[in-house]
This record gives sequence, C-alpha cells and structure tokens, in this order.
Amino acid sequence: MSEAAPVKATSFGTLALKPATLENLTALGYLEMTPVQAASLPTALLGQDLIAQAQTGSGKTAAFALALLANLNPRRFAVQAMVLCPTRELADQVTTEIRRLARAEENIKVVTLCGGVALRGQRASLEHGAHIVVGTPGRIMDHLEREYLTLEALGTLVLDEADRMLDMGFLDDIKTVVGKCPKERQTLLFSATYPEGIEKLAQQFMRDPVLIEVQAPVAQSLIEERFYEVTRTNRFESVALLLNHFRPVSTLAFCNTKQQCKELVTYLQQQGFSALALYGELEQRERDQVLAQFSNRSCSVLVATDVASRGLDITQLEAVINVIITPDAEVHVHRIGRTGRAGESGLALSLASMDEMGSVGKIEQYQKRESVWHKREGLTPTGKGPLLPPMRTLQILGGRKEKIRPGDVLGALTGPDGGFTREQIGKINVTEFTTFVAVQRGIADEALRKLNAGKVKGKSVRVRFLQD
Ligand code: AMP
Repeated sequence: MSEAAPVKATSFGTLALKPATLENLTALGYLEMTPVQAASLPTALLGQDLIAQAQTGSGKTAAFALALLANLNPRRFAVQAMVLCPTRELADQVTTEIRRLARAEENIKVVTLCGGVALRGQRASLEHGAHIVVGTPGRIMDHLEREYLTLEALGTLVLDEADRMLDMGFLDDIKTVVGKCPKERQTLLFSATYPEGIEKLAQQFMRDPVLIEVQAPVAQSLIEERFYEVTRTNRFESVALLLNHFRPVSTLAFCNTKQQCKELVTYLQQQGFSALALYGELEQRERDQVLAQFSNRSCSVLVATDVASRGLDITQLEAVINVIITPDAEVHVHRIGRTGRAGESGLALSLASMDEMGSVGKIEQYQKRESVWHKREGLTPTGKGPLLPPMRTLQILGGRKEKIRPGDVLGALTGPDGGFTREQIGKINVTEFTTFVAVQRGIADEALRKLNAGKVKGKSVRVRFLQD
C-alpha cells in the first residue's frame, strides 16, 4: 500500500468539515486554504467570536461562509445566520459564494435583502423560509421593523467590510439590527482596515473576540507599480497615453471625487475609448448596467471613486490607474491590490503632480519601498488603432421575471437558429427585468439580428446594444 500524502496545514482536510463539504471544495477548485481562511476557520468553527482583517480577494467570504454553514441545521426553517454588507454588489457576491459553498448540503435557502428592490418580493422569499439572510443594514432594519424578518433562531452574525459600513454611516442601523439578535450568538467581523470605530463596535457587540491579521496577499508581489509625473493640465491626456501604450483589456481608473470621474469619462469617450463611470449616486439600474459591461469585458475603462468600487470582485483586471494619488496610503495599497489577482500579473500605474509628492512619500513609507518613476515621454501608442474592448453587450428586454435563465440565452445563440460557438459568447447576466449577454465584437451585429428574429424560451424577445 502506498503511503498517504502528508496533510498540509493549509489543507481544508485539517478542519472539522463534513465530507460532502470537503468534496464540494475540491470540485470548486479550492484546494488549499487562503491565509485568511487558514487563520480564521479553526477558531470560527469552534463557535468563537472573531475579528479578521482581510480585504476582498483574500477568500474572506468562504472564511465566514464555511463557519456559518457548519453551524446550520437545514431542517430548521428559520433564519440562523445573517451577513451585513455595505453594498448591494457585495451582498450579491456574498450570496453567490454562500450558495456555491452550500451546494453540497441539503436545500439551504439564502435570501438577499438590499434596497433598490421592492420589499414585497423579499417578504415573499422570507415567508417561504430562509436559513441565511445577506443584506445591507438599512433594508434588513426595514424588514425587522415590519416583522417580516425575525431573528430568534440566529446563531451567527457576520459584519462584512465593517470599516466600509462605518464609513457609509451605517453605525446606527447596525446597532439597531444587532439589538434584535439573540445575545447568545457567534459574531464574526471582517474589515480591510482596523480604525478606532471598529474597536468600539467590537467592544459593544462581541465576546472576547480573537483578533486575526493576515499579511498582504502574496499576489501583491506580481503587481508592477509605475509612477509618472504629470501636470494639472496633462493628467487626463496621460491616462489616454497609458491606455494606448499598455493596451490593457480591463482597467480600473481611480479618481478622488465624483466630479473628476465624470470629467475623465467624458474626456476618454471623446478620445474614442470605451469608458464608463461608477460613483455613489448612480441609480441601481445604472450601476447594474455599468458593472455588467465592465465585468463582461465590453467596456475598457471603469472610472470609479474608492467608495463606489468597494466590494467589486473582478478577477481579470489587467491594470489599475491612479488618476490622482490618494492622500491615504492604505487606500493606495487597496487600489493597486485590485489588479494582479489569482496569480495573474497586473499593472498599477500612478499619476502624480508636484502637489501630490507628499502623498507619494507617505505611500513609500507605508509600503516600505521606493517608488519607481517612468517618463511620460516614453509612452508611445502602439499604432494598432483605437483600443477596443473584445466584447459587446446585448441587452434583452426581459429577465428573471420572464423566467429567462442564462442557459436559455446560450441555447438561442448556439442552437441551430443562432449557429454561434460557445467561445463566441461571453458572460450572461440575468437581472430581474433585463438580461445582459456579452458576445465577441466581430459577431455582435449578427447576434443582435438573430436574437431579434428568433426566440428565447419559445418567445420573441426585444434586443438592443447597451452601448456604442
Ligand atoms: P473573496 O475575498 O471572498 O471575495 O474571494 C475572492 C475569490 O477567491 C472568490 O472568487 C472565491 O471564489 C475565491 N476563493 C476563495 N477561497 C478560495 C480557495 N481556498 N482557493 C481558491 N479560490 C478561493
């Protein structure tokens, strides 16, 4: 008999998880724990309170999701775990991840409760029985006040991106919501930073929490960081130069204000780039459209403020551009950590004028390394014509309400009437009332025509281009 391979300390097999859960993790390709998972799961699975300093991309969702799932009784039809998140995007991502991890279990129901959607539908979902709720504090409070949601059976409370929830002014709502939770419970708090407010929050709501700090993710070393000196008048032009020189497929460009985001997007669009803006005051529908187009690679540049971009989980991001240096060194490190995920290399390009050299100095101290400067004059267009995204987004006027599923759309495009290959079709995003489907640029016109002429789920549909 051959000897069994030694079990690594970072193997999920070292944890007290059910065999079906372990099998599911392997099927998902989660072969080893990430540092935050290895540091927090042993404690979390024991039912202890925990504060973990971790950012998006570190695997933090699975760190709390596996703990709350382990404590859940699927046969008991009551809310046993609740995750509070700062934004709807994050809540959606958390819900998706929990569902993925819960696949191995009996029917576990996860309900998302966020603003921007009618209360009625959410109430109906709760009435059908939910084991886990994920949502924003304000909307969860609404449901509690109306008694659509009750928390007597709650065993695990998670505060995700707690620092951001405080920044967004959710403190009072959080207090109210926590006040409705049973005293006997486990509380897990995840936060990218650990400001004073978090400590106060922890003192109020947690019992002897174990504090976990994980060093910056390994992926960070794959990020190539370059600084360019610019002037106030050539800053936007420099962004265009960077894009034409490096030609990244997807770029997240950070500005410090909403106004600057708007101005830069207008400039880039005038220069022929496919660029969209993401900032706090967009309507939910607009946000959904922007995010769908950026994540399916039919928009080259997303120009965003820090707050608006929080919680975005975009795995393929070739470049981050700091259009203006942030005065907060920690924010800078979070910005550049958005690229170079999952072992891919990434470019972090920062534009600084003389006024921002003090901030650059703070960043150097914080990162304990000197910045590498490159000359703006060295940025030359590659002569390949305008930078175009590889995909285009078609919008089908119909979504979940019409019972459209991604497979129906894929079927219409790759079936006999469509005739396209699977590879020519990108992400398919079904929202409540509308569906976004990315297709390769070269087949976009034909795909639009065929979808409009044909049928999805046996019905005629109306389809149009979302942009350009
Ligand atoms: P998060 O930090 O929770 O947003 O997770 C970032 C990404 O990493 C998600 O797409 C997860 O599906 C993925 N992930 C989480 N844990 C692991 C793991 N142990 N191995 C591989 N991928 C993981």
